[in-house]
Amino acid sequence: MIPHQAEAIVLRTWPVHEADQIVSLFTRDQGKLKGIAKSSARSRRRFGGALEPMTHVLASYVEKPRQELVRLDSCEILVSPLSEPVDYARAAALAFFAEVLEETLPDHDPQDPVFRLALAVLEHTRAGEVWLPVTYFSLWITRLMGWMPDLGHCLTCGRAFAGGPAFFQAQADGLVCHEHRNAASRALSAASLSAADRIFRNSIAVLAAEDWPRARAADLRRFTLQSLERHLERKLHSAAALARLGSDVS
Ligand SMILES: [Zn+2]
Repeated sequence: MIPHQAEAIVLRTWPVHEADQIVSLFTRDQGKLKGIAKSSARSRRRFGGALEPMTHVLASYVEKPRQELVRLDSCEILVSPLSEPVDYARAAALAFFAEVLEETLPDHDPQDPVFRLALAVLEHTRAGEVWLPVTYFSLWITRLMGWMPDLGHCLTCGRAFAGGPAFFQAQADGLVCHEHRNAASRALSAASLSAADRIFRNSIAVLAAEDWPRARAADLRRFTLQSLERHLERKLHSAAALARLGSDVS
């Protein structure tokens, strides 16, 4: 049995047996893993509110040989998402981060850039201020997974978009120019292409000094979300919740 203590982000829990829970954790050192938290559903004494999705914790767990689940002994809260007001938009954004991380990360594969991305967007996801962190996270996770196509040139002819819009489709990777779009293509505005470029060059703290209303870069969110769903080969439930906010993410 190997005891570990690791910084981690709680992604999801499932009830199991009478009072236990399976917990999906994104640990900084060992990547995503699943553990069993005994009696956590019955007694909140050991875990308190630490198993709420997107809680940043210090997790103590024991690995057993030839067993897939670790035994989660305790979780100390470092930062809880519940320490700040939660409105519907913030709850939907947090659920979106948790679902995307759960679905994209392979087990037992440490991904420190993704861990730092998650902490950065968590810090900036506040009630009434979700569109920058959702956009920033969507773009960066797509890029860190290696799924972000060239945003500067037409996939078909190689021409640079050079200040004009680009076009994308739900079923295909990459962007095309005005000439090579088809009836199913949707536009990605020049302003959104420029926003994407700035997101890849700046920290979220720098960008947070600007206004990010819901309409800003909505086409960019749709583009990255379609890309994520295509690579994951499934719909993201949390994206539908974000869409109910009246945004264009779905
Ligand atoms: Zn073209």
